[in-house]
Amino acid sequence: MGRQFRVYLAGESVFVCKQCGNHLTVKEGILSNQFTGQHGKAMLVHHAVNVYTGEPDDREMRTGKHTVRDVFCKVCHTCVGWKYDYAFEPEQKYKEGRYILERALVVEKPETGPDRGKPRIDELPVRELTARV
Ligand SMILES: [Zn+2]
Repeated sequence: MGRQFRVYLAGESVFVCKQCGNHLTVKEGILSNQFTGQHGKAMLVHHAVNVYTGEPDDREMRTGKHTVRDVFCKVCHTCVGWKYDYAFEPEQKYKEGRYILERALVVEKPETGPDRGKPRIDELPVRELTARV
């Protein structure tokens, strides 16, 4: 396996994995808060980082059929939401390539520290790599 890197985001506030604190997205990237996930409220975001996706799966949703992939935290492997690969309904096409993050599984963290406004990339610690299956 190649080397893995982890991106640290900077924005007004950052959404992190509730389990491990991994940075997932920034508040500015939220497209909608009006979604519902498996654990209640969910948000549609433009992009998510430090995640990996599962196999594509066709699912019937309230807004029609979509091809989606589960999205997992790259550090602790929690399933934090899903990604839309394809929308069968023309009016749902705006979701393609976007991510859903479950509000119950992420935490909003306002950026207040010395690193505020400074995105950076670090290599994932080795112990997290070896813990990967
Ligand atoms: Zn995590």
